[in-house]
Amino acid sequence: MTYNLSDINDIHTHHDYDDGTVYVKNLQLKELLTDSGISEFEDASARKNKLLSIGVHPWEINDFPEEQIFSCIDRLFPTLLSHQKVFAIGECGLDKSISTDLTLQKSIFNKQIELSEQYHKPMILHVVRAYNEIIEFRKKLKPEQPWIIHGFNNNEIIARKLIEMGCYLSINMNKPLTGKIQHTIQNIPTEFILKETDTIENAK
Ligand SMILES: [Zn+2]
Repeated sequence: MTYNLSDINDIHTHHDYDDGTVYVKNLQLKELLTDSGISEFEDASARKNKLLSIGVHPWEINDFPEEQIFSCIDRLFPTLLSHQKVFAIGECGLDKSISTDLTLQKSIFNKQIELSEQYHKPMILHVVRAYNEIIEFRKKLKPEQPWIIHGFNNNEIIARKLIEMGCYLSINMNKPLTGKIQHTIQNIPTEFILKETDTIENAK
């Protein structure tokens, strides 16, 4: 069965559901390189409502040698992306609050954009203080796939700009919606808002 974005009840989570909730469980590189990655794929194949996203999170970049990351994206990811339970690439993206070199972050992100287009999978993005860069990437590359900004927590102007550029906004339902984000949600078309739960303790 193929799912569309509008069929998904939880676009970004780190836990499993035993009811009929259609969800996308996120697997980071560190999981994909261990047995837990294999068992997640087996589990997803056994559950109708479980989909997966796979990607290199910006926070992981310093945990692996650069060559290993690129070789995983080049060799491992195409195989995984051919699997019918992989719904999206992510989370990946740009984070200007960490010390990891931005140029390196951008080149790893760029590689994942190429795969997203090639395999027709949307992207789930982690973006911290880098909305301008994300908009620049979309302007420059004109990708066809939608990009979902996960954990979106910003104002209406940025929200509208991102939507205009082909992005969706995913909102964390584990957190109370107050201030900026409450205002944003009330003022943008609901079809561009997706729900996620992420993790309660370790939301990222
Ligand atoms: Zn997460």
